[in-house]
Amino acid sequence: MTIKLYNTLTRQKETFKPLEEGKVKMYVCGPTVYNYIHIGNARPAIVYDTVRKYLEYRGYDVTYVSNFTDVDDKLIKAANELGEDVPTIADRFIEAYFEDVTALGCDRATAHPRVTESMDIIIDFIQALIEKGFAYEAGGDVYYRTRAFKDYGKLSHQSIDELRVGARIDAGEKKQDSLDFALWKAAKEGEISWESPWGEGRPGWHIECSAMVHDHFGDTIDIHAGGQDLTFPHHENEIAQSEALTEKPFANYWLHNGYININNEKMSKSLGNFVLVHDILKEHDAQVLRLFMLSVHYRHPINYSVDLLESTKNALDRLRTSYANLLHRVQSSTDLTDDNEKWLNIISEQRTVFVEAMDDDFNTANAISVMFELSKQANYYLQEKNTSKEVIAAFTAAFDELGAVLGLQFGKKELLDAEIEELIEKRIQARIDRNFQLSDEIRDQLKGMNIILEDTPQGTRWKRG
Ligand SMILES: [Zn+2]
Repeated sequence: MTIKLYNTLTRQKETFKPLEEGKVKMYVCGPTVYNYIHIGNARPAIVYDTVRKYLEYRGYDVTYVSNFTDVDDKLIKAANELGEDVPTIADRFIEAYFEDVTALGCDRATAHPRVTESMDIIIDFIQALIEKGFAYEAGGDVYYRTRAFKDYGKLSHQSIDELRVGARIDAGEKKQDSLDFALWKAAKEGEISWESPWGEGRPGWHIECSAMVHDHFGDTIDIHAGGQDLTFPHHENEIAQSEALTEKPFANYWLHNGYININNEKMSKSLGNFVLVHDILKEHDAQVLRLFMLSVHYRHPINYSVDLLESTKNALDRLRTSYANLLHRVQSSTDLTDDNEKWLNIISEQRTVFVEAMDDDFNTANAISVMFELSKQANYYLQEKNTSKEVIAAFTAAFDELGAVLGLQFGKKELLDAEIEELIEKRIQARIDRNFQLSDEIRDQLKGMNIILEDTPQGTRWKRG
């Protein structure tokens, strides 16, 4: 079985073939860190983390790099408004970013390069483009000479002439052609800046990704990913910069995720419907938001509303209940029953369907359907009088492994000692209150997690079964 993915560059589903067998070089454009991330930033973070987890599940060794834009106009504006400096704001929101995406189950990238820490490689890259005739200096700015790159427009499937119609030269820009774009911007009075061969200034936005990819991976990567809104001009410009320099393909596969609407409206500052992940997570379980994001294929638009989040919570609860019931039955199950094979086959079939779904351009919507089918089958199985430890273990292993690919956990298998102690305390109090039902429930809950309680005259002792 092979993985197929939709490549924006060719507008086709293609069979995934990495440059180097068993290895994947993947780059995802990261956020500009001037605020908490909004739900639109959370989508690529979750989607491409899932792509990475799946590639790893399929045995690939994935190097995953994602940048932080930690200096740009928005950061400078925020710094002026708050009376703080740019690095302080960037540090704060990078920390907040990690807090949010970690809660959402995303793994840290192999590297998270920052623009302010990549100045040397960015300047070298620009210098090399000037030397090759693809860029020119004008009054302290440096611009990319777009017309010099013959493949310009190949990612967004537009011709240079079509693009010229919408392009313009803004006041203060010193570019020679309306399609040219800034690689380096001369510093304005009082702005944060770095020294360069063209005077004090800072990089334009697009150059950082080209420089970082080159620095971490060399000329060509396997997968370049980001939001659909980045296709043009950002990714088009990245290709122009990188391919002009190296004369090699920049990325073999381009993945783009769809937009997020809020209550069926486009999310925008002017509509005031910006939803921050930080705020959602104050009231909702992060796992619910993750499941919600993955419930729609990544290339399709997704509509966010609190009602939809609520129904996702109910759905996740159904999976969690099945999982908890499975754990609960471990103790009363026997070693073998007659229909083991039948059930083990059912579980293994579902694993196959899951892999088929994910192989088909990372169709998480269908992969999630498999989790619900698994849950349905588990519920049927638990209605049987005799259950076997082997089948129960196969069910929970499937939940654990396939869930992990999606970044979802359906319950805790291993309780920490402190959590066990806390439950035991709660049970002691329940017995003092003569609430024997609660006391028994806690005992059963612990038993389901393989914790055996022993009541002795000296108090309650516990051990792992
Ligand atoms: Zn980028």
